Amino acid sequence: MKEFKHFINGEYSASISGKTFENRCPVDNSLIGMVHEAGREEVDAAVKAAKAALKGPWGKMTQAQRTALLNKVADRINERFEEFLEAECRDTGKPRSIASHIDIPRGAANFKAFSETLANHPTEGFRLDTPDGKGALNVGHRTPKGVIAVISPWNLPLLLMTWKVGPAMACGNTVVVKPSEETPATTTLLGEVMNECGVPAGVFNVVHGFGPDSAGEFLTTHPLVDAITFTGETRTGEAIMKAAAVGLRNISLECGGKNPGIVFADCDIEKAVEGTMRSAFVNCGQVCLGTERVYVERPIFDQFLARMKEEVAKLKLGRPEDKNANFGPLVSLEHREKVKYYYDLAVVEGATVEIGGGIPDMGAELNGGAWIEPTIWTGLSDDARVIREEIFGPCCHIRPFDSEEEVIELANDTDYGLAAAIWTENSARAVRVAEQIEAGLVWVNSWFLRDLRTAFGGAKQSGIGREGGVHGLEFYTELKNICIKL
Ligand code: NAD
Repeated sequence: MKEFKHFINGEYSASISGKTFENRCPVDNSLIGMVHEAGREEVDAAVKAAKAALKGPWGKMTQAQRTALLNKVADRINERFEEFLEAECRDTGKPRSIASHIDIPRGAANFKAFSETLANHPTEGFRLDTPDGKGALNVGHRTPKGVIAVISPWNLPLLLMTWKVGPAMACGNTVVVKPSEETPATTTLLGEVMNECGVPAGVFNVVHGFGPDSAGEFLTTHPLVDAITFTGETRTGEAIMKAAAVGLRNISLECGGKNPGIVFADCDIEKAVEGTMRSAFVNCGQVCLGTERVYVERPIFDQFLARMKEEVAKLKLGRPEDKNANFGPLVSLEHREKVKYYYDLAVVEGATVEIGGGIPDMGAELNGGAWIEPTIWTGLSDDARVIREEIFGPCCHIRPFDSEEEVIELANDTDYGLAAAIWTENSARAVRVAEQIEAGLVWVNSWFLRDLRTAFGGAKQSGIGREGGVHGLEFYTELKNICIKL
């Protein structure tokens, strides 16, 4: 049986208390292994190791040396691709066909993209006139922020963790990562890669455990942590923001969404169906950017709904290694309970269940897993909880609309503001609507098409701050102005 230990100061270590918890595979609920749970002492050791590493060889490296090391880390993840893939698929149950295209390669790429962005980023300079006529020069100088706490979720475990660890390290910080309790494997494995590549001890640390009264809380309240970057639910983001208030530590929060898809009658309908299928159902609907509210212009409503139902019926549920499968289970039985609660609530709130709505019979071997049917509803009112709350499952509600003004109003009628997808062949309309959507990310005739040089983050309750490209610099570095009197 596997054992997932903490990775502190370059070494794997067990919990001092001996406390462990189970890690189960959502495909069939089989036991993968035991995870060590960190108490205050282990978290303290990890944070102190990270603090000390800032003053060690890591802190003395040039940007070029750090970039070379991070490129090595990316290459080594790719060399150990199969191990990362196996670990990610076991923890999440997702099809190998998906994880091998998204999770692992993009997880590795995160270590390359940011160092290149940094290497090409200019600094600011101003010449100031002074009364003596000699002047002064102002030069912007960026330094690492220090110890960054990284709190990551379970839906894209490696990808979303390295999305933060990559830029944090590229900027010269050290990190203590607390991966989701549901998916400890790939973050643990990354410790081995760091050692193999020669990343100095203490630069990358991992502590395992839960949120409240466990590793997550102990880490975010630790006074030597200089900044906290978090991806997860909005309510957890609020708790982390409170923790960060003590000592005025900086935060970057990437939180939940209830994202709209807007399908205009002048779209390429096959493109819109294909894109909406992905945005609602890929990763079993567990993508923060996913579409849970679809608005379709009335003239093509019936046709679009019929095509979506046809495509949902074709989704193939199965084990990660099943080459024909493109749809896995939810991440855990606990999360299935939450999603199923919303499936039942939709019926109570008056939805027409167009397809799905239940728990599939997967046969004796898999029935213990966290399987759920992909689901489409129609007929809900705009104030239904199913329309307003993030479900984070493979489901969407499809509703007709009649005008551009109406659909913009509907799309923005949410507490969240992470992403939106617009489907139209009229580019003037696409831009006009995109500009009015209250969200951090708007895709036109595409979805989850990411250029790592661009800003990523949410408006309203979907988060605070932007990461990606040079935008991450604001969070991962301290900008100092050096004024030199001439
Ligand atoms: P979650 O908030 O339950 O957990 C995320 C992490 O926070 C876990 O590691 C957890 O242990 C930790 N945590 C929980 N309570 C804590 C506390 N009080 N203090 C410190 N740490 C704590 O989220 P999840 O269920 O793992 O992930 C799903 C959520 O993440 C969804 O809401 C989804 O929309 C969101 N998400 C957002 C983005 C984005 O980029 N905006 C990306 C992926 C997922």
